[in-house]
Amino acid sequence: MDLFEYQGKEQLRKFEVPVPEGRVATTADEAAEAARGLGGRVVVKAQVQVGGRGKAGGIKLASSPDEAKDVAGQILGMDIKGHTVKRVLVERAGDIVSEYYVAFLLDRSERNYLGMMSAKGGVDIEEVAETDPDAIARVHIDPLLGISDFHARKLVFGAGIEPRARKGAIAMIPKLYNAFVGLDASLVEVNPLILTGDDRVVALDAKVTLDESAEYRHPTFAELKSAHEVPEQERLAKEKGLNFIKLDGDVGIIGNGAGLVMSTLDVVKAAGGEPANFLDVGGGAGAELLSNALEVITSDKGVKAVLVNIFGGITRCDLVAEGIIDAFDRLNMQVPVVVRLDGTNAEQGRKMLQEAPNERLIPAETMLGAAEKAVELAHGGGA
Ligand code: GDP
Ligand code: MN
Repeated sequence: MDLFEYQGKEQLRKFEVPVPEGRVATTADEAAEAARGLGGRVVVKAQVQVGGRGKAGGIKLASSPDEAKDVAGQILGMDIKGHTVKRVLVERAGDIVSEYYVAFLLDRSERNYLGMMSAKGGVDIEEVAETDPDAIARVHIDPLLGISDFHARKLVFGAGIEPRARKGAIAMIPKLYNAFVGLDASLVEVNPLILTGDDRVVALDAKVTLDESAEYRHPTFAELKSAHEVPEQERLAKEKGLNFIKLDGDVGIIGNGAGLVMSTLDVVKAAGGEPANFLDVGGGAGAELLSNALEVITSDKGVKAVLVNIFGGITRCDLVAEGIIDAFDRLNMQVPVVVRLDGTNAEQGRKMLQEAPNERLIPAETMLGAAEKAVELAHGGGA
């Protein structure tokens, strides 16, 4: 789970990492109020879980409460890379002498913690890694031994952090590490870490990714999570007891069993298509579950065709057919649905589908044939 910047900073503050003073606002008036409380110049920052907010116009300076109200009005409701801005963080504006980068993450391939630091902060770190890899200092930290001053110095000197900022950076790095470990985070990234005019080192941005498998030992996670919206489709799927995953293509996929669903994804790709999502109805799925699954899948506006791939074992194909026919009646579905049934009562199920009056319901014999048909339909051909 990626935290919002304001949540990340709240957590860092608990570990004594210096962050600017700030308040969250959901309306322009609240933003003005926050600016008044902070006094002086403020920065108004869009709270969305994507980077590059600055470039997208989601970060603006304001020198008075009125101005803060103005810019908050512009930023709230703005769309940043598909995320609608519902909150802004109003912070006392820092005077920035330099911008650096510092992060702790899980290095899975080394089975170790990794610290990274660069004097090239405030910019896309992936780009730095590509164009100037030597500008990033790295140090592994054994989780059992923990961090020592030596690691912090190695990062700071390795990155070529300027002398004025060294003391503050060396003091901050172990605190950041403590936050990383203490929160069971898989990433704590500060970009930029800044040096201020009065030689303080402050985290100006925070990206914190929590490991949800550790939720059981962090009662606070649930509260952090409640600020995050679950997408409508996922909510619907959960409510109906279905495992649903959203992808980016245009072919919706329903299957029973993880293995069959995975191979269905592969076959759709092999047929030149892109899966829009997939939904595993599991073993023993009945008519109602199938009908609900189609409802969830087709509520995704990106879906141009659906492929249902069922291998009947405990699951009875006649019940699957019944559920699909019911979904057509109940939901007035406009997208074509290609169905491949095999196994228990497959023949009976296929017959039911063939006899159903809806021409958007297309039975198919083989898995590859079904995938090809679904891809063709998604791309606007046939049917
Ligand atoms: P991101 O673009 O989503 O990563 O957002 P950041 O929080 O990293 O901000 C992007 C840039 O906005 C920073 O690198 C700074 O240059 C600028 N910025 C952010 N906060 C302040 C601030 O308080 N004062 C000033 N002067 N600039 C800021
Ligand atoms: Mn940033």
